[in-house]
Amino acid sequence: MADPRRSLPSISQLATELEAVEPPLAAWAATEAARRIVTSAREVLTEQMAAGTEPSVPEGGWLADATALARKLALEHPRSVVNATGVVLHTNLGRAPIPAGAAEAARRVAADYSDLELDLETGLRGSRHGALGDKLSELSGAEAAYACNNNAAAVMLGLDTLARGREVIVSRGELVEIGGSFRVPDIMERAGVRLVEVGTTNRTHARDYERAIGPETALLLKVHRSNFSQTGFVKDVSLEDLVGIGRTRGLPVMEDLGSGTLIDLVPRGFPVDSYVPSRVSTGVDLVCFSGDKLLGGPQAGILLGKKEVMERVRENPLARALRLDKMSLAALDWVLNAYLDGRAEAEIPVLRQLLARPEVLEERAQRLAAALAGTLGNSGLRVSVEPDRTPVGGGSLPGFELDTFVVALRGGASTAFRAARTAALLRDAGTPVLARVRDDAVSFDLRTLAENDFALVVEAVGAAVSEHPAASRTPAVSEHVDGGAPR
Ligand SMILES: *Cc1c(COP(=O)(O)O)cnc(C)c1O
Repeated sequence: MADPRRSLPSISQLATELEAVEPPLAAWAATEAARRIVTSAREVLTEQMAAGTEPSVPEGGWLADATALARKLALEHPRSVVNATGVVLHTNLGRAPIPAGAAEAARRVAADYSDLELDLETGLRGSRHGALGDKLSELSGAEAAYACNNNAAAVMLGLDTLARGREVIVSRGELVEIGGSFRVPDIMERAGVRLVEVGTTNRTHARDYERAIGPETALLLKVHRSNFSQTGFVKDVSLEDLVGIGRTRGLPVMEDLGSGTLIDLVPRGFPVDSYVPSRVSTGVDLVCFSGDKLLGGPQAGILLGKKEVMERVRENPLARALRLDKMSLAALDWVLNAYLDGRAEAEIPVLRQLLARPEVLEERAQRLAAALAGTLGNSGLRVSVEPDRTPVGGGSLPGFELDTFVVALRGGASTAFRAARTAALLRDAGTPVLARVRDDAVSFDLRTLAENDFALVVEAVGAAVSEHPAASRTPAVSEHVDGGAPR
């Protein structure tokens, strides 16, 4: 048997072939793709020869694989996608989309010179964070405020400022892992503080904290259980009570709130205690939360609390390493102005999506269903408008689901519809569409879909359906499933 590796082109031969591909490929990506494809093909063929198996030489050679790889390598990242999952704060999709005005503010400060750290009145050095601090104080009732890179950084900064080298007391029920690599015990270790665990997984009492307090104690810490909830035989100590203990024993209290809000969502039917002004009013020394969770702004870590504590935070050398960049600062400032001017609910996408009433979503779903029915042709697929439920995501409101409406796409009686396959085709669209797959339906949730996303969804579905293998004679129908308990 001839050595199949003889049929392999050299890297430079394949790269030359790639130069002729239309539309043209980015030169660096073509070279890199040629290198990777030839190297891996040689490895595979060598293994196959050693194992005595049939060598896998692609029919038309390696050009097609190399072209696909080169295109993939040169793609922009991250790219815009359509979020039809219904999850408003989807971590994998970049969490909160910021308002257009905030994005424009970020663009301007990035493209132009600005008075970022200049006082235009005196012509002298000005404060990078002054305006932000004033606005956050006005909105929260805190004496002072500061913003850094993200909430994980805010937790580090708070712990380092208040307790470096000393002991911090935390309930065992709050030693959470938020996802990625944010685990409270690990962050505490990195922040150079000693963790003192009190209570049990399900129950922690005031006396547990009191007994653990000793000469080395520097701080009492409360952590929001962002991504799970406990029910049953449970007890924890409220922030108010913890602040009371701190006051009697002369110790500061810090809360990692995770997701904080500047409008009270409880009267709007959300089971949360994440309203920042009510946390501040307990007299807590420091509260921190994310800018891009329920707040609906850019990635940022917001710290607020007592003036003296915030001054120490600002002067901490770590603050420089963890500081907020000017684009995020400008976007956050825009978002805070929207809250101050009473424009937040109208202009912040996260709030608009969270507060949209199901009736509005149902009407929107009818319009999307009608638009989709037109593209299904004789594929035999069906669309229907259905009530459903969706989590909020982003470590906010664990265990809570919002009522919503979806447009579900399903196979007809005579079609071999595979929801996962269709979802994959939708992700491959020019503007990828992320839908939900459940019960062998592909669902588009109107909670996160705006009217101006419809054209992209229709286009992506049209393309996916045209690749659908089993077209049948049944004409496409749009039906409405109403009433009934949401699943
Ligand atoms: C989300 C979260 C964090 C991390 O915040 P980032 O802004 O993602 O850095 C920390 N603590 C809690 C309780 C959280 O919910």
